[in-house]
This record gives sequence, structure tokens and C-alpha cells, in this order.
Amino acid sequence: MEEEKLNPYQQWKKNLGETRVWDMVNPTIERVPKDVAQARYDVCKGCPFLLPTTQCSKCGCFMKAKVKLPLAECPEHKWGKFSQDTPTATA
Ligand code: SF4
Repeated sequence: MEEEKLNPYQQWKKNLGETRVWDMVNPTIERVPKDVAQARYDVCKGCPFLLPTTQCSKCGCFMKAKVKLPLAECPEHKWGKFSQDTPTATA
């Protein structure tokens, strides 16, 4: 099967998944428990796509902020969305 051809904007939107970038600066949005955010960030710290700026080169997000959002997920499927039913929340 031929791989889908996306322009850079389409690829960025695809890599964002359900992450809403504006939630990262919205203090009223729910955040995941600190241990979940830390576990997610620990995965990012070992990932070759994490830039020295702490941005992910796949989605462009600042990961210290993104890992705190419940609906956020890694574009490389290294960690997933947070749910109260799955307290560890790593995919
Ligand atoms: S979100 Fe995924 S791809 Fe991006 S830096 Fe973290 S682990 Fe790597």
C-alpha cells in the first residue's frame, strides 16, 4: 500500500493527533498527575526526536507542557493519552 503523501502542514497536524496546542497555555485545562507527566517526559528524554529546546521535532510541541495534557499523545506512539481508568497512562 502506498504511503499517504502529506504536505508539511498536514504532517504536523497529523503528528499533533488530538493535542490542542492552545491547551498548553490554558491554566483552566485539566492536567495529568505529576507522576504520569514525569513518566511521559522521561520517555521523551530518551528519544532522538527531542530537541535541545525541549521541543519534539515530530509535532513541534514543547514537551514539558505537552506531557501534562490528558489528550496528548506521542506521534511515534511511545506514550498515549491519559485516562483515569489507566493510571499509568503510557501506551
Ligand atoms: S513526543 Fe514522542 S516522538 Fe516526540 S520527543 Fe516525545 S517520545 Fe519522542
